[in-house]
Amino acid sequence: MNILEISKNYNTQAKCIAKLEKLRWGKSVMCPYCDSKRNRAVKSEAGRHSCKSCKRSFTVLIDTIFESSRLPLPQWFMIIGLVLNAKSGLAAKEIQRNIGCTYKTAYYVAMRIRIGMLMPNTKLHGIIEMDESYFGGKARKAHKISDSDTSIGGETITLKRGRGTNKISVAGMVQRKGMVKTQVMEKLTKRNLLAMLKHYASKDNSILVTDGFKSYKELETYIDRLEINHSKSFSKGIVHVNTIENFWGSIKNGVKGSYRAISKKYLPFYLVEFEWKFNHRNFRGNQLDEYLKKAVTHQKELEYWKAESTEQVKDIAYEKQKE
Ligand SMILES: [Zn+2]
Repeated sequence: MNILEISKNYNTQAKCIAKLEKLRWGKSVMCPYCDSKRNRAVKSEAGRHSCKSCKRSFTVLIDTIFESSRLPLPQWFMIIGLVLNAKSGLAAKEIQRNIGCTYKTAYYVAMRIRIGMLMPNTKLHGIIEMDESYFGGKARKAHKISDSDTSIGGETITLKRGRGTNKISVAGMVQRKGMVKTQVMEKLTKRNLLAMLKHYASKDNSILVTDGFKSYKELETYIDRLEINHSKSFSKGIVHVNTIENFWGSIKNGVKGSYRAISKKYLPFYLVEFEWKFNHRNFRGNQLDEYLKKAVTHQKELEYWKAESTEQVKDIAYEKQKE
């Protein structure tokens, strides 16, 4: 859905509320506090309902990314449209210019939109590629002059492969023609990689493809594995890690073009955004509807935002899912 359509179809708060109610509740409004379906509309405020069971009142925005935001929903919808359409990310400055809101609002809304992009865990299967990439930190001397380094305002962001550097390491897995999963890893140890693999991949009828990094060898205790030797060739039939390399490339472009610098604290948010975009690369339906439906029906992720556990939002999500 393009921005013009969004501005036409969702130009009032009431139209946006109606859309979100339909996506969240269908035909029968349900109280978010007690799950009762017995309620009535409060006449004095559009979109507000009063629960006949627990006597509390609520709107569809409770427990969603939109909760307690003063930005009108039509502007929220426009920003979501802009973010979804921006294949390699959208800087808060750009949102500010497009919407005419403050930078602070643009930044806050964009972060919340990313939270709404966190996908529920479904196990990968089939041919799965696993690889790692490195973000931020100081570049090693030998790598300083490289086209994969971006230096703006004195901050150097390096996204090249950099085993053994002090950069933030991120491990990623992708199912061929399927979804991608990433995880910020303090240390790329065999143990951490194995835990991630077990969490995200089904070992039955699956095969893992990696490069020759020695920690991946250990994963054979869990799953069948094929290895591509990069010093000889980059692919040998199905044996390659090109899909995950392409994914790292898309983040690299986004960081260079739109975000310039991403701190360790917020890296997980951007990973979530690029994962969402990658996972919907072949989606042909209405992306706005798809996004909004998820954002109003899977609210669990918001706990992490509310708790201000922004530091490693995905790690926390990951820990939670393990419980
Ligand atoms: Zn209730």
